Amino acid sequence: MEHEVSRAADLVDALDPARRPVIRLRPGRDGRALARGAPWAFADEIALDRRTRRLAPGTIVRLESARGQATGSRPLGTFAFNPRSKIAARRLDDDPEAVIDRSWIARRLAGAARLRDRLFDAPFWRWVHAEGDGLPGVVIDRFGEAAVIQPNAAWAERLLPWFVEVLAEAGIGPVVMNGMSRGRALEGLEERVDLLAGTLDGPVKVPMNGAVYLADLLGGQKTGLYYDQRLNHAFAARLGRDGRMLDVFSHVGGFSLAALAAGAREALAVDASAPALALARTGARESGVAERFRTLRADAFEAMAGLGAEGRRFDLVVADPPAFAPNRAAREAGLRAYEKVARLAAPLVAPGGFLVLCSCSHAVDLEAFRGASLRGIGRAGRRGQLLHTGFAGPDHPQHPHLAETGYLKALFWRLDG
Ligand code: SAH
Repeated sequence: MEHEVSRAADLVDALDPARRPVIRLRPGRDGRALARGAPWAFADEIALDRRTRRLAPGTIVRLESARGQATGSRPLGTFAFNPRSKIAARRLDDDPEAVIDRSWIARRLAGAARLRDRLFDAPFWRWVHAEGDGLPGVVIDRFGEAAVIQPNAAWAERLLPWFVEVLAEAGIGPVVMNGMSRGRALEGLEERVDLLAGTLDGPVKVPMNGAVYLADLLGGQKTGLYYDQRLNHAFAARLGRDGRMLDVFSHVGGFSLAALAAGAREALAVDASAPALALARTGARESGVAERFRTLRADAFEAMAGLGAEGRRFDLVVADPPAFAPNRAAREAGLRAYEKVARLAAPLVAPGGFLVLCSCSHAVDLEAFRGASLRGIGRAGRRGQLLHTGFAGPDHPQHPHLAETGYLKALFWRLDG
């Protein structure tokens, strides 16, 4: 294996709670939120001195409150520490004495898998949704026997070989490491994609919502497929039965293949990525709906303007763009982009037809997104009813202290004549 976990001596912080470094909150920080279960301590909350700054990124520590020797400090739990990150400490375990080893990782994975087994019929799901599943910064998507892992925090990068071993023991292989997410740079981690175990010959088939999708685990965006949209695909598919649908920002056809499988008469998928559209077409063949499926490789804004100019109308239009506002600095520009998507998409909806507008931007909350969408629809001269608001599916559980994990919003509108 390329990245061996180094010798046990280097892992004493993980394996031996008694010899683990202690980190304290700064005086004046009462740690109440942390005592209630908050998952993070930020760099400006922690007493950083020469000793703590020298700790290797990903060191397992005991976090304690700031109280002085006289009153005694209070342990807040076992945390992963990274002196280079704004999120300086991430909670691994409430128990300050927790041993962080392979079996600890295995227990977390098994608990997460039990939930998904209850939710879904086939083993194709987001297995670990980071803080929401008690494994901070770690995302794992399962594709049958294969898995893609994103170690987006230093501790997980450090213990990655253990994750791979635990996955192998659970019968999983191949295992792909996808290190392309934005979060890694903030942790001081480099970008890379690696096959860590097993072999892969081409994209994998994923049965979901009555369709078969193709996911390219090594070259794909994100981890290959957008599992977070599963329930929204299903709801849109219901609205699109026996109609014509337009799937803008389609990727591998998440919305269109589900709609076609549910009986949509025809679907046109628009995306800027030729490889994504090629996978969508293969998926359409595998799903037995290829003759009702078309793709258009184009910039989505130009394509929508062009279809509008031609007077084209669809019974269902879905627009699921990439995160236009991935951070706070991009919020205003992002809101303008969402408004523009709505303004260009609304005219393409036939009278009484449906419009689905999605946002996966952390920095744009539901209210702001609804406002931008409503302005866009209004500027297109349309009005409508808001039927339903969808979120990420339950294989993306939210940590109750982190609004950030509730990033995905899908607004389902029915537009008037
Ligand atoms: N709707 C998909 C996920 C979409 S992800 C699903 O449910 O599975 C966003 C997609 O937008 C990506 O496939 C990306 O290639 C595409 N994209 C990004 N910018 C684009 C642009 N300007 N024009 C067209 N497609 C774009």
